[in-house]
Amino acid sequence: MSKSYHIWTLGCQMNVSDSQRLASELEKMGLSAAEDPEQADVLVVNTCVVRQSAEDKGMGRIYSLRPIKEKYPDKVVGVMGCMVGVRDPLPLRKKLPFVDVFMSPSEPLPMVDFLRSKGDEYEALAAEAESRAMRDAIQDEDALVLPSHERGNLITAHVPVVYGCSHACTFCIIPFRRGVERSRSVGEIVAEVRSLARQGVREVTLLGQIVDRYGKDIPDGPDLGDLLRIVHDEGVKEGIQRIRFLTSHPNWMTDKILDTVAELPHLMPQIEVPAQAGDDEVLRRMKRGYTQEQYRQLIERIRARVPDVAIHTDIIVGFPGETEPQFEQTLTMLKDLKLDKVHLAKYSPRPQTVSARTMPDDVSDEEKERRFREIDRAQAEINAEINARRLGTQTPVLVEELQGGKWRGRTPQNKIVFFEDASRDRRGEVVDVEIIWTGPWSMQGRLPGSGDQPKPNEIIQLSAL
Ligand code: SAH
Repeated sequence: MSKSYHIWTLGCQMNVSDSQRLASELEKMGLSAAEDPEQADVLVVNTCVVRQSAEDKGMGRIYSLRPIKEKYPDKVVGVMGCMVGVRDPLPLRKKLPFVDVFMSPSEPLPMVDFLRSKGDEYEALAAEAESRAMRDAIQDEDALVLPSHERGNLITAHVPVVYGCSHACTFCIIPFRRGVERSRSVGEIVAEVRSLARQGVREVTLLGQIVDRYGKDIPDGPDLGDLLRIVHDEGVKEGIQRIRFLTSHPNWMTDKILDTVAELPHLMPQIEVPAQAGDDEVLRRMKRGYTQEQYRQLIERIRARVPDVAIHTDIIVGFPGETEPQFEQTLTMLKDLKLDKVHLAKYSPRPQTVSARTMPDDVSDEEKERRFREIDRAQAEINAEINARRLGTQTPVLVEELQGGKWRGRTPQNKIVFFEDASRDRRGEVVDVEIIWTGPWSMQGRLPGSGDQPKPNEIIQLSAL
């Protein structure tokens, strides 16, 4: 007898990591990943509610499971993540009576408990899996055991270091759904990084809603600078090549963090600091706690301290009351700063938030769309310009996978590079690549001295490796 699971993951990197944790727990119980979701015995939707569109998508997926549950009542349906939130989701339970298990963000255990309580079949499976784990000596309670399809294959992984968020940005639902800020202990984080490295991972990204507040809730505890140094030193010993972290809030970015990034060779020069807007009045109503001028100074400070750094930002267009001149402020700021990546979003009122309760959503959908496109267009030009500067240079690329016959990897600045090389499996290697073509979203490279490109029939397929 065997049992399998399938997880749909929506939303942010934290959700990707949470789904992985759930998969890990299910595999410890002896379940395996189902290639075909229709065949799975356990079906889970890991949800996002940061915008209405994400919530709608999650709800659509959940409702698509209802006929399956009705036809096969033995199947287990679970809903996880921010739609559930950290409090008992009574209204959701009423609305979705066909769902068996609700899991808060980063909390996979209710599913484990539910399956165990379901009786014999799952219990027998779990007992067998436990004895197998004992035999294989992978019974390390706090380290994360990757699901088997990822073990040895996954090159980059996410490690949560701060759960929740205690800020009060007026537009944001996350603090209501992920709870208060809680830092994980250094020991737990390092153990996880080590175990990921032993399972083949070469790059870890440390995650937090405001990752630069790491440790602030631990009296006399380490800060993010300290954590980065420890993860760097301990991770590298186990084969970790690259370390990144996100997301930073502009007000908590210290020189110590920046200097640590500049100093340590395996910390990648990439800083994600969302601006959200470039107009002071909008920033004030968002309750972000800085002005446009302060944000500009921060970018200068980051660039002065970290050589060849890539800076990413998030922008919301169409925040309540955002006028055309206020939007222009944001656009001008982005054109001046020429950042490496802009994650763009159209404002979406979210239940419970201050903006949804007190500020009318008065920018029309068409206008939000127009502002979105205007920034998107401007940023594509900026990206193209930044990438074009790399033409003819050499850059180390961490190879993640084979895609369309080419190796796909990333530069230290997290830009995507494709190159061809039929000599061997390059996954997980850091390869020096010469950039021979650039566009706004990716670059093409070749191995230095490799001359002409290989002909298509020389290109290897992953399955042949
Ligand atoms: N912790 C990060 C934000 C993480 S949420 C910070 O401090 O900035 C991810 C992104 O979703 C946000 O940066 C924001 O750009 C977007 N977002 C959050 N709430 C939103 C809303 N109500 N409407 C549209 N976009 C939103």
